[in-house]
Amino acid sequence: MNLRFLIIPVFVFIFGCSQSPTPPQETETSQIPDGIYLKVLGIAQDGGMPHINNPQEFEAVREGKRQREFVVSLGLIDTESQKKYLFEATPDLPEQLYFLDQEMPSSTIIDGVFLTHAHMGHYTGLLHFGREAMGAKHIPVYAMPTMETYLKTNGPWSQLVDLQNIQLRAMQADRVVTLSRKLKITPFLVPHRDEFSETVGYRIEGPEKTALFIPDIDKWTTWEKSILEEVKKVDYAFVDATFFSEGEIPRPMSEVPHPFIDETTALFKNESSTIKSKVIFIHFNHSNPALDKQNPKRIALEKEGYRFAKQGEMYGL
Ligand SMILES: [Zn+2]
Ligand SMILES: [Zn+2]
Repeated sequence: MNLRFLIIPVFVFIFGCSQSPTPPQETETSQIPDGIYLKVLGIAQDGGMPHINNPQEFEAVREGKRQREFVVSLGLIDTESQKKYLFEATPDLPEQLYFLDQEMPSSTIIDGVFLTHAHMGHYTGLLHFGREAMGAKHIPVYAMPTMETYLKTNGPWSQLVDLQNIQLRAMQADRVVTLSRKLKITPFLVPHRDEFSETVGYRIEGPEKTALFIPDIDKWTTWEKSILEEVKKVDYAFVDATFFSEGEIPRPMSEVPHPFIDETTALFKNESSTIKSKVIFIHFNHSNPALDKQNPKRIALEKEGYRFAKQGEMYGL
């Protein structure tokens, strides 16, 4: 089955989720699609869902009212070249790579990892490539300059570099990384709380379609580009949906700036449902009511065209 032009909701996230009695849903496990496509491997903010020390969420997951969610990550699969890549190295990396391997078994567990920034949900999974776990050899890890320096000069990451478990590949903002004739990746800088590294989003360009991936950004107004215009240039835009609205967490939300879902949708309010449907919300904090598929506000936005990323979904490129 050729995946081009298709978006297939597939939910086969039954592995490793003993707490998550999700009923069996539509699956595509019997066939491996042809082509180049993205696979959603996680949708949660860095702390995951259920969140640490949250008995209410533990109970909701145990009772099947809520679902366990892995930390935000996209897999990129090219069945022609038999390569697979990962966006983000999350704390859930082993299970996410297992899932990718189920999708397309190949001789290498992963052919490259693209990092956005040095916050815990986005790079700490690199440790699994080290001596204590996989003892990997030369896994290409694509990193921006400050991120590269940070990894090289701080333990335990520096040990991954010294032992050549990972091989850092330098990226520059707005410079294309050509993975194949049909697949190009371009990092671009976005404003974020850059304590240890700069932060990037990615433009992921396949033979037919192009995706944006911006899991973490401060307010849209602090970015030099217009998210509205950037979304119009692509087919899919996976964007930061950490919080739904002001007041969602009991601390000053200005300490952790993100575009609220209601701020993003306000920007798009005069656009067609076709444009709105390019917006795919991702990176949900455990507090975000939109994590609940039955939430009325989420359902209302879905009716307008907006989409909410789901683990296991595939997006053809
Ligand atoms: Zn994050
Ligand atoms: Zn972050």
